[in-house]
Amino acid sequence: MTAVDVAIVGGGAVGAACARAAALRGLEVAIFEPGPDPAAASPASAGMLAAQIEPLDDVLIGLSVRGRDLYEPLAPALQETTGIDIGFWRAGIASVAFDDQTADRLKEDVARQRQAGLRCDWLDGGEVRERWPGAAPECLGALFAPEDGAVDPQAVARACLADARRLGAAFQPEKIERLQIANGRTTGVISPRGVTAAEHVVIAAGVWSPQIASLPRPLAVEPLRGQMAATAWPDGTPPAILYHEQGYVLARGVDAVLGSTMERAGFSAAVTNEGLAQIFRGAVRLLPALVRQAVARTWAGLRPVTPDGRPILGRDPELAGLWYATGHGRNGILLAALTGEIIADLLTTGETNVDIAPLGADRFNP
Ligand SMILES: Cc1cc2nc3c(=O)[nH]c(=O)nc-3n(C[C@H](O)[C@H](O)[C@H](O)COP(=O)(O)OP(=O)(O)OC[C@H]3O[C@@H](n4cnc5c(N)ncnc54)[C@H](O)[C@@H]3O)c2cc1C
Repeated sequence: MTAVDVAIVGGGAVGAACARAAALRGLEVAIFEPGPDPAAASPASAGMLAAQIEPLDDVLIGLSVRGRDLYEPLAPALQETTGIDIGFWRAGIASVAFDDQTADRLKEDVARQRQAGLRCDWLDGGEVRERWPGAAPECLGALFAPEDGAVDPQAVARACLADARRLGAAFQPEKIERLQIANGRTTGVISPRGVTAAEHVVIAAGVWSPQIASLPRPLAVEPLRGQMAATAWPDGTPPAILYHEQGYVLARGVDAVLGSTMERAGFSAAVTNEGLAQIFRGAVRLLPALVRQAVARTWAGLRPVTPDGRPILGRDPELAGLWYATGHGRNGILLAALTGEIIADLLTTGETNVDIAPLGADRFNP
């Protein structure tokens, strides 16, 4: 293959979004993706856009709200250019409290978010049950973020890849083994089929990012397993996304998607009885009508997590031409579109209007 402007290593949601955004700016792009690996995060994800729900720091809240809001224009744009519906659904997420301590914490969170100008409400237990009859009968109330929602994560990756290819990006079903480096800069990528010369290389290989040989630094990205299950959504309950610390349940079409565990299990994407027991216990507490539903599917994937929960985003501080878009942890679908925009801005102008200083690759391994 001839030289390209940018080689993207990994075609999960993050790599796909980077490829699309770069191709939209007129760059010649090649995406390298041998799989997806059966343990990949994107196909396993719940796809929640939980910008105001997951316990995040202020840096991540800012990024997440911005990332979530990008889906509003992205969904119709992808539908128009690729015909793929990414299932963007902005019906709000309720984070439910079953005890006083959690209720107090969530009420404080509501106040803090409102002060920051975000839409956020406290619903008491009665209001929760009125909105979603049958839900969380023992709950004391819920933080409700009306602008949060969900997408179909597989459709997001598929649509971004399709759009990137429509814009001229080449898809290479190859595993990248190492970088090619010459005169202090990245000059391409090497797969078992040979070298592809590239002016820029973007590392977007999820939990496998640190395994790419000749990276100039160790990447502090580790796998955190998440197990999931799906059953039919119970008749008579309006579709919802209900969340609490031990689990969540969301409506996707006729399915109820139940999640998830957070386990250090190396690179194993096995589904275990213990994991499923935790998921079912949590989901049934949120929506008791699930208890008699047949289990339709179970699966697991590996979240690429960093020690501080923030992604690694931006240039390598020393090796010119090398960029990182990895370590998105629990919120990589939420942050995929924004990551694509940031990377594409950096590749084309060297700048971004998002503050990525707290996301540097050298914060763990200076
Ligand atoms: C159970 C579960 C639930 C989740 N729920 C949510 C949620 O509700 N909302 C949310 O925002 N996020 C969620 N996440 C997190 C989110 O899925 C991830 O942060 C995100 O998918 C990461 O995307 P990625 O493209 O970086 O990684 P991946 O999707 O893992 O993609 C990496 C890709 O790189 C490829 N690859 C690996 N090595 C190489 C190589 N050497 N050369 C080329 N390609 C390579 C792999 O085949 C793979 O396809 C969840 C994750 C899990 C596991």
